Formats: sequence, structure tokens, C-alpha cells
Amino acid sequence: MTLISSQLASFWHSQNEHWPFLRAHVEALDQLELSSIPFQNFSIRIQFNPARIISSGAKIDKASLEKRACFLCASNRPVEQEILDILPGYDVLCNPFPIFHAHLTIPSKNHQLQSVQGKIGDMLHLCELLSGYEIFYNGPECGASAPDHFHFQAAPSKVMPLFDDLDHPALTELLYASERLKVCYCPGYLRSTILLEARNPQSIVEAFQLYYNLQAKLQPTHVEPMFNLLARYQSEVYSLVIFPRKAHRPSFYFETGEKQILLSPGAVDMGGLLVISRKEDLSKITSDVVRCMFDEISLNDQTLLYAFRDILLQDKR
Ligand SMILES: [Zn+2]
Repeated sequence: MTLISSQLASFWHSQNEHWPFLRAHVEALDQLELSSIPFQNFSIRIQFNPARIISSGAKIDKASLEKRACFLCASNRPVEQEILDILPGYDVLCNPFPIFHAHLTIPSKNHQLQSVQGKIGDMLHLCELLSGYEIFYNGPECGASAPDHFHFQAAPSKVMPLFDDLDHPALTELLYASERLKVCYCPGYLRSTILLEARNPQSIVEAFQLYYNLQAKLQPTHVEPMFNLLARYQSEVYSLVIFPRKAHRPSFYFETGEKQILLSPGAVDMGGLLVISRKEDLSKITSDVVRCMFDEISLNDQTLLYAFRDILLQDKR
């Protein structure tokens, strides 16, 4: 069952009508301050969103997680929060702390750790089911505010500038191409970005697993290799973007006083929409700060990239 945009819109509107807590945050979205920083061939958007303090300031250490009731488990959810049941094993929900209109959270039905291995097929299937949406994933150490309960999120297309940016020929370089799979990377995009495209989702599932194994060798002490993911399905082509990461938060997050910027980047930020929750941070974000942040959190490893290409060549994907 593919949900057309109007069905999704009516789910979102009906939840807004019956759930005052969601409605208050959605109404606040229209008052948010937005700005933009231009770079060569692309821009970074900035959104000041005070309600997101809950996510950017989230404590995700083991002790803090054990102390709180898991907000993604069905038994702890607000009574008003309804479910769209479109893919076995998952609940599609309206996110009560939205970054944009029609922001969806898609947790697994069972309480299980945030780990995407074995779930890329589901992610691509969701792209197909939720027409007009992009699906994103934050690794347990890369922006997920519930690393103890598996979840994807969904954003209406083009909320983040990413896919429009990737259409710009100056931003992508071909790494590998076969009849079934195309892989590009983005050398001038400030953050390390790998784009996989295929008509058959299984080609992406298999190529992603090869990539996953390579990055896992580089980051053996982590629960999973650090990355954010963003996917879409358009014109019968599936696209999966990997943003390899080396740090959870940039150094300015841990500063105190004037020097601190409370920005904890996840997939939306990597997709080109920086979300800050304190007004005083708005004027601190300059092009140099953005560059420095991506340098600190993004894993820019040429050896990894070429190892991925070599393994695809060997495997003749
Ligand atoms: Zn849970």
C-alpha cells in the first residue's frame, strides 16, 4: 500500500486537531527564525527552534536512559498519539517536537537498540510507501535522542537542501558505476557524503553492507559505525546518502559561556538544515563555524572511499 501525499496530509491534520501538544509545536513552526549561509554551489539553512532543546540537549548516557520511560514504546506514548500501520514491525507516528510540518517518527514496534544493520531494505521500502517523503536515520552516537529504541524519521521532500544540492553537477564525483548501481561522493560539500543509487533496492542493501563492514573495521569500539543516513525514492530510482561521522558533537557544544553553541548535529543538520534551540546561538553560526563543525564531526577518509570502490569492483555489483 503506497500512501499518497493527501492521505499522509490528512493523518497529520487529524493528529493536529486532536492533540493540542502537537498543535502548539506545529503552530510555533510558522514563527521560527530562519537564515541561510551561502557556500560555493550550495547553502546551509539555519532554523532557530526552541522546542528542540529536548533533542539537542538530550542526555543519552546509559544511566540517563535507564532513568526515563522510553517515549517510543507504545505503552509510554501520549494517548492522543495515533499510529499509521503501513509496514510490518513499525509504527508511523507524528513527531510531537517537529522540525518541520509533517515530521514523522517511525519506531520499531519492539523496544530494540538503534542499529540499522539489516534494516536498509525497510528504509528503502518506507521511501516507496511514504510518497513525497525522505526517510532519515540517526546512528546511536550521531544524533538519535532515543538510542535504546530503533527508529527512522521522515521529512517531506526538499525540507533539507541535500537532494537539490546533489543535482548540481559541480558537487558530485562518480566513484563507481555498473548497470545496477551508481556511487558518487561529494568533494566540495564540507561534509563527507556518499550517494548510492539503484533501481533495485537490493543492490543498495548489498552495497551498503559492504560499506558498513569497511567503516566498522575503522571504528571497532563503537556500537555501530558512526553515520547518518538519508534516503528517497523518485522516478523509480532509490537513493541512499551516507554521511560518515567521527564525532557525536562538535567541540563548541562542550564549551561554556559565550563560546558554547548548543548544536548537536543529526541527519537533518547533515542534510543542510542546522537546527539550534537557543536564540543566542543564532548569531554565532558563521561560515567558519559551519566549516569547523563539519571538519570535527565528519569522517573524511579517502582510503575508506577507495577501499569501498575496490570492493565494489571486485564484487562486480
Ligand atoms: Zn522503547
